[in-house]
Amino acid sequence: MNLERMLKEGAEELGIKLSTKNINNFIIYLEELKIWSKKINLTGLKKDEDIITNHFLDSLSILKYLKEDSTLLDIGTGAGFPGVPISIVCPGCFVTVLDSAQKKILFIRNIIRRLSLRNVKAITGRAEVEQNNLKRKSFDYVVTRAVSDFYNVMKLSSPYLNEDGRMIVMRGEKGELELEAMSKEIENLELSVDKIDVFNLPFNESKRVSIILKK
Ligand code: SAH
Repeated sequence: MNLERMLKEGAEELGIKLSTKNINNFIIYLEELKIWSKKINLTGLKKDEDIITNHFLDSLSILKYLKEDSTLLDIGTGAGFPGVPISIVCPGCFVTVLDSAQKKILFIRNIIRRLSLRNVKAITGRAEVEQNNLKRKSFDYVVTRAVSDFYNVMKLSSPYLNEDGRMIVMRGEKGELELEAMSKEIENLELSVDKIDVFNLPFNESKRVSIILKK
């Protein structure tokens, strides 16, 4: 299957209709990712198909939880996942991506420029350190994917949620077990489980568990 079709059909499986512009943007993102990966560590994946499924489509899997005109903080975004794919398909989502690695943020700023994205801001820094340009208690959604263990991602995300905010913790196949082990910690952080979503990625059927927590 060609890459454009893979993006289109994979997104459809997630209930998302991609425009031709969206698809072209993902192809540019893919090319840039491969070029920059030769110099800096951005992804372990080499094959185009794997990048599309495990990075782009997995990132888009959280779109269904987001309301239009909302603010999203992606902590430990790496090469932009899931924040940048969300900003590509959701012009009404105002995305901030944060990573402690300056080189990764420079890569993302290059993507923002190349794709003329106006709804995403990239910040270098550690989530546990107070940043002037990153207000606490101000985001509708805080998301993490593959950043740290479950407890640590909850601790990092929690301070940034607004009153009615939702934390989206993207986990792999052990997600439900990890969550079960966290009941005390969830209570201590004054959070509660809003939703548990277990699903398979398009094409390779890898199991994913997304957990939504609220204050
Ligand atoms: N979310 C991306 C990247 C995962 S790798 C993806 O799913 O592909 C984890 C990233 O988190 C690394 O780029 C690392 O620099 C960043 N990171 C780890 N701890 C962090 C912290 N406390 N604050 C900000 N970034 C952090």
